Amino acid sequence: MGGKRKDTKPKIFLVLKIVGFSLAAAGVVLLILGIATPDPSSSNSLFAETAQKMGVIFGGAACLIISISLIFAGFTPSIKRIQVKTTKYVVSDNKEDLADIATDAADIAEPALSKLKKATKQKKFCKECGKPIDADAKFCQHCGKEQ
Ligand SMILES: [Zn+2]
Repeated sequence: MGGKRKDTKPKIFLVLKIVGFSLAAAGVVLLILGIATPDPSSSNSLFAETAQKMGVIFGGAACLIISISLIFAGFTPSIKRIQVKTTKYVVSDNKEDLADIATDAADIAEPALSKLKKATKQKKFCKECGKPIDADAKFCQHCGKEQ
């Protein structure tokens, strides 16, 4: 039962396409027939009255308009598939860009960060005056007290 349901959905779209294209062909034939046939006043005309000729022309135009919406509806899965593919592509493209930006940012920040780390590690404070001095300094640069 479940498998059958899966099969019917694409069939509906196939039917829509077939009906749409058939209706489009019928519409074109009716339009050509209506426009190309001589006026009802002429003896060899297909139509007895002008109203019939106009009816065929409008009928053909209506068939064309309906067929366009049917064909469009028939191609809905393909259009959706293309939209999904495009969205996926845009997202993956952005992901790569973001990764690149993050890598660049890390590269830029790295020297500054290591400098900062070194600076904070290498500094200590004098026991006597409390001013910051180098970690490996034996004497305070400010008061001269031995560390
Ligand atoms: Zn000192």
